[in-house]
Amino acid sequence: MSASDDCLFCKIIAGQIPSSKVYEDDTTYAFKDINPKAKVHVLVVPKEHYANAAELAAKDPAELAHIVSVAQRIADDSFHGAYRLVFNTGLDAGQTVFHVHAHVLTGEKLDE
Ligand code: IMP
Repeated sequence: MSASDDCLFCKIIAGQIPSSKVYEDDTTYAFKDINPKAKVHVLVVPKEHYANAAELAAKDPAELAHIVSVAQRIADDSFHGAYRLVFNTGLDAGQTVFHVHAHVLTGEKLDE
């Protein structure tokens, strides 16, 4: 498994930095966002390091689909299956951590 030495989310996945785990399987890890923007705000990440959604889609589309299914499961458990899924991609879109992550926003009715 590839990991980037200076990647915050690789360190979280490795357990070197604490996180509030919501879900884990062989390829995927999900944890609560430290600065939640909704009642439930979870980050879903591949354990393998990819910089952004475009790189993940090109190199491991099955993992991208799996991340969507994990998001669905989190929303099923917390808000009858309704959720917003966001991949900030690129500095100018607000991406601050360059290990691809899906923001799953759910747990309450969201603003339009
Ligand atoms: P981005 O801006 O789309 O790259 O999202 C990065 C997200 O990571 C932000 O919503 C941050 O609040 C979140 N974040 C940063 N550091 C941590 C941490 O240590 N634990 C959990 N979430 C974090």
